[in-house]
Formats: sequence, structure tokens, C-alpha cells
Amino acid sequence: MWGLPREYTLDIGYFRTIIVVWSRIRFPMKCPYCGHEKTRVIDTSHDTRGGIRRRRICVNCSQRFSTYERAVLATPLLIKRDGTREEFSRDKLMSGIRVACAKRPVAAVDIDRMVGEIEAELQQMGKSEVPSRLVGDRVIRQLKALDEVAYIRYAIVYLRLGDLESVRNEIDQLLIDNLE
Ligand SMILES: [Zn+2]
Repeated sequence: MWGLPREYTLDIGYFRTIIVVWSRIRFPMKCPYCGHEKTRVIDTSHDTRGGIRRRRICVNCSQRFSTYERAVLATPLLIKRDGTREEFSRDKLMSGIRVACAKRPVAAVDIDRMVGEIEAELQQMGKSEVPSRLVGDRVIRQLKALDEVAYIRYAIVYLRLGDLESVRNEIDQLLIDNLE
């Protein structure tokens, strides 16, 4: 670890173990059914994104439940048009795209990937806040390539196309782009 002498890396590991043990005693995983503080891990598995899933059983009521542990990267706050800040919400973005894609031949896995990529991109920027249109622009660009009807639906909401004329202009532009 960063070329430190072996004893130091051992020390770090040792302290980390103490901290983990201490936090488990201090902040135990409570049973969501009865609130008991003692649960037993019966299975541990890793997912592809580095998360850890633990299957647990409550020693008091014997109910089983899972806990999921994954690294949380900071996602910047979104600055909205009116200047207010909003927490990035994966679910909100996902449902907006789903509505636009309703009954269209767009696979759920494509929507999932799109949202995942946008979230990762935001996190990699390493900023504390970014304009929300950054997210909308990404979605609109990807939908344009994925499905034209979904794109127009999203554009009506996102670009605030309030009248038939502007919707028509957008469609005309789309048709011109397709001819080129
Ligand atoms: Zn319980």
C-alpha cells in the first residue's frame, strides 16, 4: 500500500478491524421485524459492482432479511432552471424516461444502462453541483438515437414545447437529420 513498510500496512488493517468490530457493537444491524439487535449472517455474496449482500436471520423472531452494502460515491446536486438545488434521483430520472418510452420497443435494460451511465458520468465530474440541464441533455441525445417517438415525448416535456408549432419544428428537424 503506497510503498509503506509492511508493519504499517499491518497496523492499518488491525485498526480497521477494531473500527469495524466497534461499529458493529455500537451500531448493530437491527431486525426490521422486531427491532432486536442480534442478527446472524447466514450467507454473503458479492455483486458485479463490488457490493456485498448479506442474508441475515434474527436470533429473536427468526425472520430472514437481507442487507446490502455498497460504496456511495458523491453525486453532485442539480441546479434547476429556477436556481433551486435538487438531489439527483435515479428513480425520478428512470421514471421520466420510462414514461417517454411507454409502449415503445425500448428494452428496460437500455433505460437502466442509460441512467447508470448518466449517474456515473455525474459522479466522475467530481463537482458539488451541476446544472440539471446537463442530465436532460444527455437523456435527450441518447433517446434521439434510441427511439424517435420516445425522443419527441421527452422533448415535449423537457424542452417545454408548449404548442404544436414547436413540436412540429422539432419533428421537422428530426426528419432533416435523418435525411442527412
Ligand atoms: Zn426479529
